[in-house]
Amino acid sequence: MLDGDLLGGALSRLDEAARHIQIDPDVIERLKYAREMTKVALMIRMDDGSRKSFLAWRCRYDDTRGPTKGGIRFHPDATAEEVETLAFWMTMKCAVMDLPYGGGKGAVKLDPRTLSKTELERLSRAYVQAFSKVIGPDRDIPAPDVYTNAMIMGWMADEYATIRGEPSPAVITGKPIALGGSLGRNDATARGGYYLVDHLAKELGLGAGMRAVVQGFGNAGQFMAEMLAADGHRIVAVSDSRGAVACETGLDVARLLALKAEGKSVADLAGTPGVRSISDEELIATECDLLVPAALEDMIHVGNAGTVRAKVILELANGPVTPEADRILDGRGVVVLPDILANAGGVTVSYFEWVQNRQGYYWTLEDIHARLKAIMEREGAQIWAIAQEKSVSPRTAAYIHALGRLAKAIEAHGTQQ
Ligand code: GLU
Repeated sequence: MLDGDLLGGALSRLDEAARHIQIDPDVIERLKYAREMTKVALMIRMDDGSRKSFLAWRCRYDDTRGPTKGGIRFHPDATAEEVETLAFWMTMKCAVMDLPYGGGKGAVKLDPRTLSKTELERLSRAYVQAFSKVIGPDRDIPAPDVYTNAMIMGWMADEYATIRGEPSPAVITGKPIALGGSLGRNDATARGGYYLVDHLAKELGLGAGMRAVVQGFGNAGQFMAEMLAADGHRIVAVSDSRGAVACETGLDVARLLALKAEGKSVADLAGTPGVRSISDEELIATECDLLVPAALEDMIHVGNAGTVRAKVILELANGPVTPEADRILDGRGVVVLPDILANAGGVTVSYFEWVQNRQGYYWTLEDIHARLKAIMEREGAQIWAIAQEKSVSPRTAAYIHALGRLAKAIEAHGTQQ
C-alpha cells in the first residue's frame, strides 16, 4: 500500500460524502467496522501426497440491506485488511445499484497458477467446507473475483450441494451455465462499465474513435478491450501482470485474446508490426480519452497520478485510485467514474443469476442486457446529477447516493440494532 492504509483510505471517502449531506452519525459509525470476519487455514492434499495449508478469509461487512454479497479472490498478496476493504466497497456498491444486498468478500492467499487443476478443485471445495455456515443463499453469496472463475464457482456450488444434501444454486453466482449460471455474467463487469460510459459520453466529452488504455487483462479488462474495439475505438495500450504493450494505431484485440487463451501474456505481442513493449508507468502516462484500470487496488497513487494524461478514468477494478491520487486527478480535471458504480455490472448480473435460481426460470441474453443497461443508466444518471448539483466528484456523489439508501435501511431496522 503506497498511500497509507487501505481500509482507512476507503472509509475516508465515507466521511467526505457525509460532509455534503445531513446524516445521522450512527450511520457512519455503523459502516466503520465489519460485522463479521472469519479466518481459517485450509489444508489440502497436494498431488504428490504432501499436505499444504493456505490462509483464507470471508468477511460479511454489513447486512443491513440484505444478505452479504461479494466475490472470492485467489491472490498471493491477499490480506485480512484487503478483504475487509473489498467487503466495505461491496456494501457501498450494492447500495449504489439498489440491489437487495449487503457487502461481503473472501480470499485465499495463494498464486493459483502454482496449483494443478485437481489441487485447485480440492482447495475450492475446502473453502466451502470451512465457510459452509457463513455462506448461504439468504446469508452470504460469493462470486468470482481476481483469479477465480466460473469453473471454481461450479466446484464450490457442487460442494455446498453435497454438504446440504440438495442443490442450492443461489448460494453462489458466476457459476457455469450448466449449473444454473446466468447468461451474460462473464462479461457483465465490462458491459456495465461500457453502458455507463456510453450513456454519459456527451457529459464526459467522449465520442466516436476514442483512444483507450486498459490496465489488466482478466475477468473485466479483456471484455472491455473487446467491446471498445468492436465499437470502433482504438486500444492504444494494455497490460497484464507480466507486462504491457502499446500501438499508436490500435492493438489487435483478437490476437491479444488468443495469446491469453494460450496462457501467454499480452506482452508477447511486442515485436509484431507497430507494437512496442512499455513499462506499467508508461501505460498509466499514455495520452488517451479513456483509461481503464481493471487490475488491482492502488494502481494510480500519489507517485504517478500527476503523469495521467486521460480525459476520463473508468474504474473497472476495485480501488485502483487512492484518495491522494483522487485529489491530484481532480486538480488536473480528470473525471473518475468510481468503482462502486463503474464495475457494478458484475454484481448486478450476479443478482440476476440469484433471482433466476430462486425462480427456477431463466432469462434470455437480451433480457439480461436490457435490464443491466437500464440499471446502469438509471443509477449513473442519478449520480451524475448529484455530482452537478453539489459540485462534487462522481465518487463523492456515488457515496452520497449509497449512504442515503443505507441510512434509510439502518433507520428502518429500528434503534435497538
Ligand atoms: N467480484 C465482483 C465485484 O467486485 C463481483 C461480485 C459479485 O458478483 O458478487 O464486484
